[in-house]
Amino acid sequence: MTGKRVLQNFIDGEFTDPLNGESAPVLNPATGETIAHAPQSDAEDVDRAVAAAKAAFPAWADTTPGTRALALLKLADALEEHGDELAELESANAGKPLHVVKRDEIGGMVDNLRFFAGAARCLEGKAAGEYVEGYTSMIRREPVGVVGQITPWNYPMMMAVWKIGPALAAGCTTVLKPAPTTPVTTVMIAELAAGIFPKGVFNVIVGGNEPGARLVEHPDIELVSLTGSVDTGKWVAEHSARTLKRVHLELGGKAPVVVFDDADIDAVIETISASGYYNAGQDCTAATRVLASSRVYDDLVAGLAEKAKELVMGDMRSPDTTLGPVNSLRQRERVDGFIRRRPGHAEVVTGGRTVAGPGFFYEPTLVADLRQDDELIQTEVFGPVITVQRFSDEDEAITWANDTPYGLASSVWTRDIGRALRLSKALRFGCVWINDHFPLASEMPHGGYKQSGYGKDLSAYSLEDYTHVKHVMANLR
Ligand code: NAD
Repeated sequence: MTGKRVLQNFIDGEFTDPLNGESAPVLNPATGETIAHAPQSDAEDVDRAVAAAKAAFPAWADTTPGTRALALLKLADALEEHGDELAELESANAGKPLHVVKRDEIGGMVDNLRFFAGAARCLEGKAAGEYVEGYTSMIRREPVGVVGQITPWNYPMMMAVWKIGPALAAGCTTVLKPAPTTPVTTVMIAELAAGIFPKGVFNVIVGGNEPGARLVEHPDIELVSLTGSVDTGKWVAEHSARTLKRVHLELGGKAPVVVFDDADIDAVIETISASGYYNAGQDCTAATRVLASSRVYDDLVAGLAEKAKELVMGDMRSPDTTLGPVNSLRQRERVDGFIRRRPGHAEVVTGGRTVAGPGFFYEPTLVADLRQDDELIQTEVFGPVITVQRFSDEDEAITWANDTPYGLASSVWTRDIGRALRLSKALRFGCVWINDHFPLASEMPHGGYKQSGYGKDLSAYSLEDYTHVKHVMANLR
């Protein structure tokens, strides 16, 4: 990325500065350098964006699914065409190895949007019929209205796509607020969308938490969708209740990886290290909480430690770099705090320190000999830290796997099909992978149980989340 970008809000089809004229620097977490200046919007900017989205709603809701699908397909094409530039910006703003963003994120986002374009035309429901004699009943699915969407900093552009795809496909209009530290690619997506969607259909407000809070409190917003932390999710749910708006929450996770004796240990080590340290562990489904049966525990600890030592930190533009920094100094201090507070019985097998020099790097870390009620087991770290615990039998594995406040993703590793299916039923998570950990499909839902939130991203379920169900009943006499 060359030069410093000066970002603007996108309201009613125009790029515009915040009314208060305030901006804040945006940093590259790998170098600590300022790469852009971003608006520090406040409630007045949100109000303008919501007014634009409200004015645009009736006409957008009235378009055919085919028209909305075409617009989403055009946006997908634009993202694909500008994929290299998006990847460069995301790498610089979110501190991700460039080759990894190019390999994993661009194609995924394009596929997500193309899926939502198709799904817009395929909403299904109950058959119309005479469920009461003399009356025909039918179901209509209608867009919920103006929605507020709030995204986190770990996958800024992908989370923006996961939000706007289903909302716009359903016929909603939206005001999207990216995380304060990572607004760059969301603004670029607005630039690409500007010529595709009618003005006011898609708006972006950049700023801190205050504009997010205004979206939650605004009386004309009918649904708030957040991807973020559990604490923010609770705040959003509580404050949304005051206007009884719908809430869609994709929150934190603490994914258990349950490994039995008969698993392919080499595959387990390869997959856990790849997905546990992926994005520096800043992933709500990261494979960071390993539960190993007694017989494979030592091999797993040794293999994971070796893999952690092989990771390469450094220049995000180098094809050799495999581990980026965490998002901010604050996040690095948070991650380090977990390690510093660890109990005496825990062993830091490798890592466990901040890395000197520019940027917010943290060593890939493996902690063994933890107990179920330790903070490192119970609380999402959101950094490059994997823990390993030893279980004695299947019941204990299930109990421990389920025993955190979260319920987003999990995996079970065994060649015994009966055991794999027993666990896929017993694990209280929105996703259970069998003999893998991480892959997603646009057609399949992503979302949590318990304090990981409610509502689904991806899949037709997420499109349904952005619709109301209406019963129309006609008297035939
Ligand atoms: P965060 O909760 O601090 O911030 C998320 C967003 O919420 C930001 O845009 C922030 O400005 C906004 N926000 C904060 N306070 C607000 C308020 N009072 N009202 C309205 N908006 C407010 O989360 P983060 O630190 O940016 O992201 C990390 C978290 O996101 C982790 O817990 C991670 O697990 C979670 N996450 C979940 C998923 C998922 O799909 N479940 C995906 C990615 C990240």
